[in-house]
Parts: sequence; structure tokens; C-alpha cells
Amino acid sequence: MIFLDAAATTPIRREVLDAMWPYLSGEFGNPSSHHSLGEAAASALAEARTGVAKVLNCRAGEVTFTSGGTEADNLAVKGIALARRAADPSLGRVVISAIEHPAVEESARYLQRVHGFDVDVVPVDNQGLVTVAALRGVLRPETALVSIMYANNEIGTVQPVAELAAVAREHGVPFHTDAVQAAGWLPVDVKALGVDAMSISGHKLGAPKGSGVLFTRGRLRVEPLVHGGGQERGRRSGTENVAGAVALSTALGISNAEQQEQAARVSLLRDAFINRVLQAVPDSMLTGHRSLRLPSVASFCFPGTSGESVLLELERLGVVCSSGSACAAGSDAPSPVLVALGIAPETAQTSVRFSFTSAVTDTELELAAAAVETAVGRVRNLAPQ
Ligand code: PLP
Repeated sequence: MIFLDAAATTPIRREVLDAMWPYLSGEFGNPSSHHSLGEAAASALAEARTGVAKVLNCRAGEVTFTSGGTEADNLAVKGIALARRAADPSLGRVVISAIEHPAVEESARYLQRVHGFDVDVVPVDNQGLVTVAALRGVLRPETALVSIMYANNEIGTVQPVAELAAVAREHGVPFHTDAVQAAGWLPVDVKALGVDAMSISGHKLGAPKGSGVLFTRGRLRVEPLVHGGGQERGRRSGTENVAGAVALSTALGISNAEQQEQAARVSLLRDAFINRVLQAVPDSMLTGHRSLRLPSVASFCFPGTSGESVLLELERLGVVCSSGSACAAGSDAPSPVLVALGIAPETAQTSVRFSFTSAVTDTELELAAAAVETAVGRVRNLAPQ
């Protein structure tokens, strides 16, 4: 099987499993316990936090471990907006982009529905980019938070996060970015990016599902969503997932160390794959930005098919990928991300996303491109004329 669905999830790396194993077995303590097992767990957690902080170029106290990217996004969007409005009741608006992951989009809609916030949606251009001018156009004195993703999970478009964060800063508005897809492929130095909050998920990086991180800058107040024993400096109560934190920290460290080399290598493979598919499949269309895209994502529409049928054919041919985002899988509605790019709903239904781990090879992608040609041809031949 050729696995081209790494944006959905990745296998746990061997080194990560080795690093986390002690905290699932012999060193199973609760970090809050006042005995040696507890202290060993607390120090593993502290070390994991320092490891994450080193990669993000922030302080350990600015790192909150969560149950994944979704929780990190929820905590950022709801937690920052609610804390800011509590301090200043005039701050009743949040800004998101038109192509956010549901973890951000639905958090903003929750603020609207339950807490009476207004949600301002920044449009994207036909390649999925948010421009500085578009962001300026929606910022208001009442804006409590801007949340714009670093890289999109369906089309791979990478936003000019540092420029967008600078615009928010000029207006005194905190800037959150969902870096769940970007981490491992793009630099995640929060100082260089100038972001105030950033979400990362472990299972996109070779750590297990159910591990995540939210960075929040310095004294930025965050209203907690989960109340209890006050763990994670009161930002996220609940007995800590020590093994998950160790795993995420290890995976982030490894992928960050390899980032430049892998990004350069895989970008070349991605471009060759894109060119092969565009040449081999008549009327195929790349979605997202041609160059400002994740090294690991190639996404297409194949008019005259349905993405789901192409997916099934590809699986028969030994290639596993996705017809849009896994999180929206099972829904028949066209992808809101593709619709936001101006793609017609019937074309959006024909989308297929290929996403790579850093272990991907040119041979695999050559075989995959040939399989795409066959699969699309079969589906088109079967379609009613
Ligand atoms: N944000 C983006 C951009 C994602 O792609 C995903 C997962 O696909 C998430 C957030 C959610 O992360 P998790 O699966 O860790 O909850």
C-alpha cells in the first residue's frame, strides 16, 4: 500500500514510541503525586515542555499540553476571546479566515451563538491566500482575536503568517495560528513569526493521536475551558498525559531538526508528482497555491468524476489518500474550503488530496501518479454520459 494520507494522520515513529514507553509502563506516576513515581512523571513532563519550548523558541511556561489540535484551537479561540472581553467588554468580535479547520471555525461560531460575539471572516483569493489588505479590511477596534491558519489541511496553501501577525499587532490584537499541518514542514519559531498563540497536534508528526500543544505568549490571558485541579498553570485541568507530552516533544524535536532538509526534498517530489498528474490526467486541476504550499500536500479536482469514486479506485490500485479533509469525511456537502476559493460546488465534489510523510519516495509517487491516471479514467468511463 502507498500511504498518501499523512495530513489525516501519521504512524508513531519508533524513537517516539521508545521515548514514551517508560511513562506507559514502569514510570506510570501522576505528576501531582508527592512520591518518587510522581516526581519522575513531573520531571518528564517538565522536560517535554522544555523540549517543545526550545523548538518554538518560547518559554516553557508558555506551553500548554492539550488533548490535540482541536482542543488547542478551542482553547485559543474561545479562551483568548473570552478572557479579553472579560477585561474589556467592548471586545466582542473575532476574525477568522474563510478556510479555517472546523476546530477554529466552530469555536468562533460557538462564541457567536452562545456569547454574542460577531465573527468577521477574511476572504481568500482563488489560491487560498489571505492578503494583508483583506485582513486590514476586517479589523475593528472591537476585535478581540485574529485566528488564521499557517497552512491549510485540504489544499496546503501556506499563509504569510508573519506579515498577517504584524498587521494584527499594529492594531493591538492577539494573533493565533493553527500550525497543525505546518509543524514539521515549516519553521515554527513563534518569535520569528510574531504570533501570540499557536496550535500543534502530535499525530501529524509521528506522535500518538490525542496529544497537542497550545503556545500562548507571556501574560496573554486565556480563560480555561476545562476546570478542575488546576494543572497546566490553571489553563487546562486534568491529570496530564505524560507519555503523550513526551511523545509530542520528541516528535516535534526530530521533525524540526529534519525540517529544512525534508521540506526541500519533499517539495521537489511534490512538484514532480503534480506535474505528472496534470500531464497524465486530462482536465485535471491543481487546487491551492502553485508554490506557497506545504511540501507534503498535492490536491486536485478531476472534473467528470466524484472524489469518493476516485478514492475507491485508487485504493483498489493500492494508493490510500483522501477526498478532502478527513475531519469532514462522511459529509456530502462540497468542501467549504474549495468553495471559498471560488470553485463551483460540482467541481469541488471531485477533489482528491494526496499528502506525504517525510518517508515518501519518488518511486511511490511515480506509481501513485500512474494509478491516478488509471483511476480517473475508470471513473470517467463509468460515469453516465
Ligand atoms: N487543525 C488542522 C489544520 C488540522 O488539519 C487538524 C486535523 O486534521 C486539526 C486542527 C485537529 O487536530 P486533532 O486531530 O489533533 O484534533
